[in-house]
Amino acid sequence: MNGIQRPTAATMRAREDLIVVTGAGGFIGGALVRYFQQQGFRRLRAVDRKPLGDWYQRVPGVESLCLDLRDPEACRRACEGAVEVYNLAADMGGMGFIERFRVECLRSILITVHMLEAAHRAGAERYFFSSSACAYNVFLQQDPNVRALKESDAYPAMAERGYGWEKLLSEMFCQEYWAERGLKTFIARFHNVYGPWGTWDGGREKAPAAICRKVIEAVDRGDHRITIWGDGRQTRSFMYIDDCVRGIDMIMHAEELIATPINLGSSELVSINDLVSIVEEIAGVRLERSYDPLAPRGVAGRNSDNTFIRQVLGWEPSTPLRQGLEATYRWIEQQYRDRKAGRRTVRDTL
Ligand code: NAD
Repeated sequence: MNGIQRPTAATMRAREDLIVVTGAGGFIGGALVRYFQQQGFRRLRAVDRKPLGDWYQRVPGVESLCLDLRDPEACRRACEGAVEVYNLAADMGGMGFIERFRVECLRSILITVHMLEAAHRAGAERYFFSSSACAYNVFLQQDPNVRALKESDAYPAMAERGYGWEKLLSEMFCQEYWAERGLKTFIARFHNVYGPWGTWDGGREKAPAAICRKVIEAVDRGDHRITIWGDGRQTRSFMYIDDCVRGIDMIMHAEELIATPINLGSSELVSINDLVSIVEEIAGVRLERSYDPLAPRGVAGRNSDNTFIRQVLGWEPSTPLRQGLEATYRWIEQQYRDRKAGRRTVRDTL
């Protein structure tokens, strides 16, 4: 099950074709630009609203534009000459962010509206949209011993307020741009992505990075205490960034998946308590745990049913959590040390 024979950008596209990635100053967009550059693509355009100096990764030789894609003219500029468009721009973060800033999350619909139209007018051949597991019906996620979510579970709809509804509506826009206007759109519902070069501090970070940071801080302070949001029994699955970019590439080039949402996530389910134990093991410590029942905790349980992706791509994200967390922990530890030493880090760009 390695998806080796699947079409990808490298097998379908000329190296001179222009590939546009939005949200490229962020975690997944930045990794995707680097991935395409490693595949030998020579014309890459990276777009983000953040000032260039604040991007998590700047890939040398890539055209990098600072544009706010809620504006139609900015989207027109972003899509000019594009053959493929990967739209990963969104105002987003972990539960601490999406539960507090619903208006900001909903306003990302403007990016979808204007990017789809601009990509269509520019004559782009393919358009990718990064949806989320937050688009799923929350009533199916009330038990930590959750049944994994399959693609049909988004309807009847009762998505996560704000962020999840925006994703669901954006999916519908993508589907209708295919049905009415013939733009080939591809929609992946990401389940928690983690890895080096992700947000690890500042309020938008997600659980794996937050827990790595808290463990590092506890060791550094020497008090060996950690506070966990909720009761720690919430369950999730976490996908390593390398699996995410590979999956995006395969989904974007699968004709069977035009306008068809598909899960892109790991199916290795763990509780937040398990996650803390793995990070403790990596750090070689045991911490005293306390729990904050009032902190944002999200749904009780969420996992990715990978039946469909295995069937279509003959592949699924499979980096073991322990392995991906090891790389992530080491990267955050280095960031933490750099910050303490007064050197610039990803966190300082937030
Ligand atoms: P991120 O916050 O690191 O990156 C998103 C980027 O979009 C940011 O750099 C931000 O500046 C940019 N952006 C926001 N509004 C913009 C605008 N108006 N114009 C231009 N750029 C704008 O997030 P990420 O983790 O890399 O997520 C990428 C995509 O994947 C998002 O659509 C997100 O909703 C989706 N997603 C991510 C996860 C995850 O676990 N990271 C899970 C589900 C879905």
